[in-house]
Amino acid sequence: MTEAPLALVVDTHTHLDDTAFDLDRDEVIEASRAAGVRHFVNIGYQPERWESSHALWERHPDIDFAVGLHPQLAGEYNTVLERELKRAIDMLNPVAVGETGFDFSKPTPDLEAQERAFRGQLEIAAAAGLPTIIHQRDASGALIAELDRWPNLAPIVLHSFDGTHRLADWARERGCFVGIGGLATRRGSAPLREVLPRIPADRLLLETDSPYLAPAGSASRRNVPANLSGIAAVLAPLWNMSGEDLCRLTSLNAVSLFGLPAVEGIT
Ligand SMILES: [Zn+2]
Repeated sequence: MTEAPLALVVDTHTHLDDTAFDLDRDEVIEASRAAGVRHFVNIGYQPERWESSHALWERHPDIDFAVGLHPQLAGEYNTVLERELKRAIDMLNPVAVGETGFDFSKPTPDLEAQERAFRGQLEIAAAAGLPTIIHQRDASGALIAELDRWPNLAPIVLHSFDGTHRLADWARERGCFVGIGGLATRRGSAPLREVLPRIPADRLLLETDSPYLAPAGSASRRNVPANLSGIAAVLAPLWNMSGEDLCRLTSLNAVSLFGLPAVEGIT
């Protein structure tokens, strides 16, 4: 009996420093590697998470990280935090700024606070020449309008893409990278699966957003990076390819986008 080859893959959006992993973090990371995950990008979305992401990288050099302020926390953005963010970028050597963006799913933080935090981080990303990882919820139009004011940014990642046809077409025109994961596998995501093929395969990234967004059929509500190749197998037919090919292609995209070390076994 021949075993299916292990699909090697990069998980471009994790929160492995989350308390959901406090009891078994190292086991989760080890099981993810055993399931083919060859590199991780952990998202430090507030100052304490910049520290915990950096600490994780010190113990696990295959877990690179981004630093930023989540739009739901935009009310915390001020000149002190901005200075700390610049310092974190200088000192900690992250691969991207984020996640930042717009989230209009709740009444707060208000638009003014979200704009200030988003614009501040875009300016920092532009100055540092780093990619920006964008979180967007119920804010497609405002996101397009804002990013159109910033034509010279380093590459943009639309993480956990859940946008409209219009946002997908805009992203393709702009050359954005688009992160897809467990959300797109869910039964209620049929409209999203209709939009996704508008994104060319050379702009796709795979991500779990662990511990969030467990895929359809998952045994646990807690998502883990080990689920990623299964997610790829479900989504790959949208681009008429195999799960292994989607893993390989998106890993190469991630390596060049984030400047990751070459991933052993993926060429
Ligand atoms: Zn996230």
